[in-house]
This record gives sequence, C-alpha cells and structure tokens, in this order.
Amino acid sequence: MNIQFVREIPENTEYEIIIAGGGPAGCAAAIAAARCRANVLLIEASGSLGGMGTIGLVPAWCPFSDKEKIIYRGIALEIFNKAKAGMRHVKKEDADWVPIDPEALKRVYDEMIMDAGVTVLFHTQVVSVNRQGNKLDYIVTANKGGLTAYKGNIYIDCTGDADIFAGAGLPYDYGDEQNHDIQPSTHCFVLTNVDEYHYHNSPVLHMNNPECAAYDIARSEKYPLITDAHCCHSLIGPRTVGFNAGHLWNVDSRDPIGASKALMQGRQLAYQYHQGLKEYLPETYGASYLAETSLVTGIRESRRIKGEYTITYEDYKNRKAFPDEIGRNCYFLDVHQTKEERDRIMRGERNGEEDFEPYAPGESHGIPYRSLIPKEVDNLIAAGRIISSDHRVQGSIRVMPVCLVTGQAAGTAAVLASQTGDTHKVDIMQLRRILGEAGAYFE
Ligand SMILES: Cc1cc2nc3c(=O)[nH]c(=O)nc-3n(C[C@H](O)[C@H](O)[C@H](O)COP(=O)(O)OP(=O)(O)OC[C@H]3O[C@@H](n4cnc5c(N)ncnc54)[C@H](O)[C@@H]3O)c2cc1C
Repeated sequence: MNIQFVREIPENTEYEIIIAGGGPAGCAAAIAAARCRANVLLIEASGSLGGMGTIGLVPAWCPFSDKEKIIYRGIALEIFNKAKAGMRHVKKEDADWVPIDPEALKRVYDEMIMDAGVTVLFHTQVVSVNRQGNKLDYIVTANKGGLTAYKGNIYIDCTGDADIFAGAGLPYDYGDEQNHDIQPSTHCFVLTNVDEYHYHNSPVLHMNNPECAAYDIARSEKYPLITDAHCCHSLIGPRTVGFNAGHLWNVDSRDPIGASKALMQGRQLAYQYHQGLKEYLPETYGASYLAETSLVTGIRESRRIKGEYTITYEDYKNRKAFPDEIGRNCYFLDVHQTKEERDRIMRGERNGEEDFEPYAPGESHGIPYRSLIPKEVDNLIAAGRIISSDHRVQGSIRVMPVCLVTGQAAGTAAVLASQTGDTHKVDIMQLRRILGEAGAYFE
C-alpha cells in the first residue's frame, strides 16, 4: 500500500548548477562549473568528498597513461598530481596504478572545491525529483535541517547510482544485456603494521599468480566468505597496505535492506581476509592490524543511464573517435565476472584475463558528449560510472580517471547550457574549445 505524503517545504533558488554526489565525477564537475564562474551546489550523502577513492578506500588509481602518454588530463591530472605530491614513496613521474592515501586525497578534494568557491552540503541525500515534461523542476534533499526543494538551471547526476535519473522516471540499463547480472562488489580495507621488507620481496599476491596465498585463502574452509582469488593491494603509507580483495555477490544498491546486509558481510569478509593473510603470509602480515574497513560497500555497477548515445563494445573494439568527444579512454574491459565464472576460473577451467581485451600502447577510444545526456529531459547531465554505455564498456569507463574526465565535461557543459536551460543546445565546438583550453585531451 502507498500513502500520499503532502507537506510544505522550503524552496531554495540560489544555485545555478546543482550536482548530486561528491565522488570523482561530482568533484570534477563542481570544480569545472565553479571555475567558469557559475554558482554551484554540491550535495554529498557522506561526510567526505572523493567517493570510492576516499570513503570507499580504493587503494590505487587506475592508469592515467595509455603507456605512451597521459591521456586523462585537465582537472583529472591536477587532482592526481596533488594527491601524489603528498605521498613520499610515489615518484612524480608515476602514472599507472599509483597508490591512494585516502586522507591525503580527501584534503586535495576539500581544498580544490573550496578554492573554486563551490558550496558543499555534507550528510545530505537527494531523495526525490520533480519532473515536469522535459524539464526537472526541482530536487528534494534530506538532512538534519529537514527536507528542502532545490531549484537550479541545470542538474548533474554523479551519484554513481543514477538516483536523479531514476527519480525522474527516466529509463536506465542494469547489468548485462542477457541476464541483468551485475559485477560483484568488494569491501576494501586497510592493514597497518605490515612488514615492508617482506611485502616488497615476496611472490606476487594477485589473482594472476596461481601459486599465491590468495588462492590458498579462497580454497580454505576457514574463510567461507572468500570464494575467489581477487586480490589487489598497494602500500598507501608507512607499513600501511590498502586492500581491494574478495567479492560480495549480487549486491543491488537499489535495495536498501540487501545493501545494508552486504555492508555487514563486507566487514566480516575483511576480517576473514586479514586472518587468512596472517595464516598464509606470516612474515608480511603476522603482526599486522586491521585498522579500517570501508564506510560503503564497493559497488562496481548499478544503473547506467540511457543517453542520446550509448558507447558499445564495438566502439571499444574499433577505437572509435566521435565528432562530439569530450575525452578519451584506454582502460581495459575490467568486468569482474559473476560467481559462476569465478568458480570456473578457480577450478582452472578458464583464464579470466582473456575477457579484458586491453589496448596496445597509444590506443584509446573517444567518449561522446551525447553519452552524458538523456533524450527525454533537457536540463540534466550525467557523469561518472553511470554514463550511457553497454555492460562491458561500463567495466572500463567506471574507473576514477575516466570519471574525473566525464565530470569536468559535464560541469563545463552545464555552464554552457545554463543560459538556455537545454543541454541539447550546447555548442559542441565551444564546449571542446573550453575543455581544450582547460587541458583536456581528445581527438
Ligand atoms: C571495489 C572497487 C574497487 C575499485 N578499484 C578501482 C581502482 O583500483 N582504481 C580506480 O581508478 N577505480 C577503481 N574503482 C572504480 C571507481 O572507484 C568508481 O567507479 C568511481 O569512484 C566512480 O566515481 P563516481 O563519481 O561515478 O561515483 P562514486 O565514487 O561512487 O561517488 C558517488 C558519490 O555520490 C554520493 N551519493 C550517492 N547517492 C547520493 C544521493 N542520492 N545524494 C547525494 N549523494 C549521493 C556517494 O556518497 C558518493 O560519494 C573501483 C570501484 C570499486 C567499487
């Protein structure tokens, strides 16, 4: 049964551009729009900026280079360089799989957002959307101050879950095209008091190495939540290692009860992983301490918007260029397989790496502006892992360097669209010129 909920709430019309979600995409969008002198509101559900890279404890940046040159530039590169500068064990020229110190990265985002003059609302969630035909009229937020209706010229959805698109009743895709299977989630965690000598001088602890302890832990009956050998990690500080390891299957971020159970299961999984590392790699992890687990479940995939253009596997394979491209991407098709496929990999029946189809050095594909905007609504843009792509390409464009690039493009396009209130009328040449002057890279 439904009830009708009617009440008067305050209306706020102060902001020209309203962005939901302060992850990499939302931060880059907010900085880009504010640098173009727009009055910007950034709404973030948690108490920190940075999304999965900070509150989610993802321990490393995916590569910034195409193995010949850096291709994620502009605001993305600024953030990356500032984050690296705070880490003594990272070299200035390092571009690929650079570790993340989440506390240092939080400060980088805070400083850049404050310098740009963005207004931030923490602990605030977008909970409802009012749409009148082809326009969003207002969005409703909830926080300690109660409910508020925010009315802007342009809205940018960087929630990672396309909450605004879904709230506006817009169509979206979910999971793979046949069964709607989504990639598994991971609950990242941090270990301190790790023995750095043995960390650096032991056999590679990664799924690529069938002899490594990740397989022993997954096969051991002592650690029932760990069922496959997914194990990535980075030294993120002195004697401190961040882990992106283990999988939680079929976590649907649209289901609050299921997602809450997954958080508790994730914390148990992190504990089991730590115990397993202590058992199988005592020289490295015997005296280590489980210092922190992520505040959020690491959701790799949820809703994907249906945009004016959907980037497909064929586009990826053909290294396609687009007349309206706003950035380029070279990351491989990093689709974490379903439980059934991972079981086959564990039994040695297949090699998961063959799914990834990485590019050769120097290769990349374009990201068209049309993959950021819906057909049906004029004053809404998407950025980050939710942009319009098929399931396999989402495995590639979901990573942080790409999200920063689409965020900057969305923020810049929002400023251009603000005058007319129509993202479909953005002058693409002007958008590309402004992005180019701000350092972006595309063909
Ligand atoms: C386990 C895991 C490991 C990964 N490993 C890597 C890696 O090694 N390297 C890499 O580069 N990338 C990695 N990624 C991918 C990458 O971290 C994310 O896909 C990327 O951060 C997505 O950016 P985003 O801005 O779209 O969303 P997010 O980073 O998810 O940020 C979304 C933000 O929106 C907020 N939010 C959500 N809903 C609302 C709402 N309704 N109202 C207000 N705020 C809201 C959230 O609190 C969050 O801060 C990984 C992802 C996962 C899950």
